[in-house]
Amino acid sequence: MQYIDEYRNKELANRLIEKISSLTSKEMFFMEVCGGHTWAIQKFGIPSLLPEKIKLLSGPGCPVCVTSKKFIDQAVAYSRLNDVIITTYGDLIRVPGSTSSLNEEKSNGADIRIVYSILEALQIAKDNPSKKIVFLGIGFETTAPGSAAGIINAAKEKVTNFFLFSSHKIMPPALAALIDEGVTINGYIAPGHVSTITGSHIYDDIPEKYGVGCVVSGFEPVDILQSIYMLVKQVYDNKFKVEIQYKRVVKPEGNVKAQKIMNEVFSFRDDWWRGFGILKNSGLGVNERYHDFDAERMIPVDVEETIEEKGCICGEILKGLKTPGQCKLFATVCTSATPVGACMVSHEGACNAYYRFNK
Ligand code: SF4
Repeated sequence: MQYIDEYRNKELANRLIEKISSLTSKEMFFMEVCGGHTWAIQKFGIPSLLPEKIKLLSGPGCPVCVTSKKFIDQAVAYSRLNDVIITTYGDLIRVPGSTSSLNEEKSNGADIRIVYSILEALQIAKDNPSKKIVFLGIGFETTAPGSAAGIINAAKEKVTNFFLFSSHKIMPPALAALIDEGVTINGYIAPGHVSTITGSHIYDDIPEKYGVGCVVSGFEPVDILQSIYMLVKQVYDNKFKVEIQYKRVVKPEGNVKAQKIMNEVFSFRDDWWRGFGILKNSGLGVNERYHDFDAERMIPVDVEETIEEKGCICGEILKGLKTPGQCKLFATVCTSATPVGACMVSHEGACNAYYRFNK
């Protein structure tokens, strides 16, 4: 299959492993930022193919994992209002809140519907004019343009019962925060999907300011090995820069149209990330122009006090400080069938990927 077979070619992979080994003389720490990369790295057993001195760390790129418990609690509170229908992508309904989850509320009779796009949620709003439809918007620059397009369409079509509850975030502040906090990182395997929208320019500050390279990578084994080789070469040459390995999809300037749509609807705001706390200008809130579609502004609701899980180390895993195997609950109390924390719930979470492929 084109674009699959050549990127799973064993000979190519072996050649890259040889090249990586030939340049590896000291320990190097590379963080895969994207949950999709974590999943692929575990699925294809990439760590076991690399020299021992190369350590791969999982980062904060799983949208469900970095979303705050307060967001889930507020979504639960919305779901308990009689005139609200919650619309959401699938993973989110299993994420535990402080005392409940959307799944639990659904089984108690709340109207919570899984959708595959915000446009499906918009249709639900048109079909149910007496209800308020709240769409839960999570994710990074990859999903934010879709949410923005949904709001623009709602405004154009004068759908007045449609609201976005946004927890959208942008990636660069988290990458900078990790280095500022002193996490040892010699290079970022930068996210392929986010970069498709933003372009690779969003990482330009990182080599310049921190002396850490970024390689935007694809998701197949040869993509990932080639990206690791490019990062190893940067460390070997002591020349750090932004490079694109995933050239068949990502351009330096990104998808300008999607960026424009996103900028039309959102403005930056400080936001809370699991493991990091509040990061300045890292979140995307609905701006003044579209505030009639902002659930936070238009549907006031009391939210219970946040209670974090005891024993869950998701926050440290998202910063590459620990691995899932270091959590005492991993694969005992916390499994993919009985997830304790968000990193086990999400398909893109490090705990879920380790549990599935590496437990
Ligand atoms: S294994 Fe479960 S409890 Fe432990 S860090 Fe992962 S999600 Fe949290």
